Amino acid sequence: MVRFGPSGNDIKFYADGNQSSVDAPRWLTAMGLNAYEISFGRGIRMTDKTAQIIGKQAAANGVQISVHAPYYINLANSANLEKNYHYIKRSLELLALMGGKRLVVHTGCQMQMTREEALNNCHQSLRIILKRLQNDGIDDYWLCLETMGKYTQIGNLDEICTLCAIDPKHLMPTVDLGHMNCTAQGQLDLERVFQQLAIFPQVHFHISFIEFNLKGEIRHLTLADEQFGFDLNLVMKLMRQRPGDDVVICESDSIMAQDSLKLRDFYLQQNR
Ligand SMILES: [Zn+2]
Repeated sequence: MVRFGPSGNDIKFYADGNQSSVDAPRWLTAMGLNAYEISFGRGIRMTDKTAQIIGKQAAANGVQISVHAPYYINLANSANLEKNYHYIKRSLELLALMGGKRLVVHTGCQMQMTREEALNNCHQSLRIILKRLQNDGIDDYWLCLETMGKYTQIGNLDEICTLCAIDPKHLMPTVDLGHMNCTAQGQLDLERVFQQLAIFPQVHFHISFIEFNLKGEIRHLTLADEQFGFDLNLVMKLMRQRPGDDVVICESDSIMAQDSLKLRDFYLQQNR
């Protein structure tokens, strides 16, 4: 079953009288959605207690939780390995309390290095982190390495696929089609993307329409945008041909849950 849900809380969630993410699973289920991504992008501020409450709510309502790790993780920066490890480990601990397994991670950015140096550092950091998690007894998780929207960031689809090959039991791609459409300058070849994904039995997707310029990503829009979009019918047709354990997270501006429903409906309309 492909799952659909938003990243963060829709304006309608608040308009309906909800205030806290602990109420999100119940609200999402009532809407017909079954996935929910919580962002620690700007910092990990959740307590264990809140994570446990969200976990109970998620289980009771059949909603699968994923978490987005802090944006300041940069695996290309070897000097920060200790901090990066801590952020990933702590995110995984809270994610486990919420009953989820998928942690979305931005691999890193190039900084003053060559692309090759930066990528080598990412490979090394990742190997060390995976080993340390194992040593710390953490095994039941996925790090979902994300395809990025700016050219200076590590993470085009080729790079992400190569990194995921380090450990196919704990690494899968977060395929952000919006980001990839930005770096393709609006010319994303969806058939080719899905061909490349065929080696992965499960993929985490981020889908939104994103404004871009020659440097790449600028800002997230909604699926109603007519200038920066791509063919969602084709996306869902291709997704229908996959094994079916993917999760699709919508990152639209403000109406991410309402747009998640649109994505789900596009998917359901496709014939197998
Ligand atoms: Zn991201």
